[in-house]
Amino acid sequence: MKKYNFNAGPSKLPREVMEATAAACLDFEGSGLSLMEMSHRAKNFQPVVDETVALFKELLDIPEGYSVLFLGGGASLQFCMVPFNLLEHKAAYLNTGVWAKKALAEAKLFGETIEVASSAESTYSYIPKGFTIPSDVDYFHITTNNTIYGTEIRKELDSPVPMVADMSSDIFSRPVDVSKYNIIYGGAQKNLSMAGVTFVIVKDDCLGKVSRPIPTMLDYRTHIKGGSMFNTPPTVPIYCALQTLKWIKNAGGVKEMERRAIERANIVYGEIDRNKLFRGTVAEEDRSVMNLCFVMNDEYKELEADFMQFATERGMVGIKGHRSVGGFRASCYNAMDLEGVNALVACMKEFEAKH
Ligand SMILES: *Cc1c(COP(=O)(O)O)cnc(C)c1O
Repeated sequence: MKKYNFNAGPSKLPREVMEATAAACLDFEGSGLSLMEMSHRAKNFQPVVDETVALFKELLDIPEGYSVLFLGGGASLQFCMVPFNLLEHKAAYLNTGVWAKKALAEAKLFGETIEVASSAESTYSYIPKGFTIPSDVDYFHITTNNTIYGTEIRKELDSPVPMVADMSSDIFSRPVDVSKYNIIYGGAQKNLSMAGVTFVIVKDDCLGKVSRPIPTMLDYRTHIKGGSMFNTPPTVPIYCALQTLKWIKNAGGVKEMERRAIERANIVYGEIDRNKLFRGTVAEEDRSVMNLCFVMNDEYKELEADFMQFATERGMVGIKGHRSVGGFRASCYNAMDLEGVNALVACMKEFEAKH
């Protein structure tokens, strides 16, 4: 049976990305060696890193003065690396979900923090609005897409100070005005690559301004100087990311990714709103186009396990909501196609007809 992969991360990748990566794992570009057994300093590997950086800059239209890094440790390590490198006096955080809260908790270890607004009281079902960002902070941190609860900041915010963003789950899903940010980071395993690599886009001149000593591996300047090769980078995930970036470019770039994401989201949310069995869980204007969350309407609550089984039997994979919220979550990252969302919608319609 054909499987439709709605996993939240690691998640669906384009078939050709996986094929190219798999081929390189057997024979890297005719070298007779597997990508897995090659030196990261090999002459024929350097172009992989260079090209990945170049495509990052091209596709996101990254201005001069920024570096693109590929590191280990996940977005979770960035929660501490960001304040380690940037927080001298105070930092402001917008608390829009579990990941945002974790980022804020790490920053507290390094200095004064201000939570400018939070939607925790309503299980993060909306993006707070009308808050004031203080102008005397070192940076303002946001999590653009709330992977777990399914809300997303899709319009660039106005901030009196440079922003820092965790874009783990919506990078390359729309154009971004990188010039508003000092750092953009994320784990690659949602929308960019297989698990194992973390991307960091960092404005070079925001570094070197804190007075604390920074351990070598946690200092962004180490990795800028080393071209992401200070230590051994995750070579296969970087290669896989390069294949995804080529796929995005061939498909028409981030504008086209955005058009597709909105098209998919409209189809699925349209069905959630129409179908008597289901309802969405977050404020309509803040709905994520990447992670689409829904639950059974109260009068059909007891059908939840049945629908899960019904959908699983029809090839849907990974639609169970995060363990902290329950219900369902259909993650529709860049690689999700219309066939996938149409199959999910057909499944919801069929289940409704049965009840
Ligand atoms: C998945 C996710 C993380 C955690 O990423 P790791 O690479 O596992 O550390 C952080 N932030 C967001 C928004 C995520 O979706």
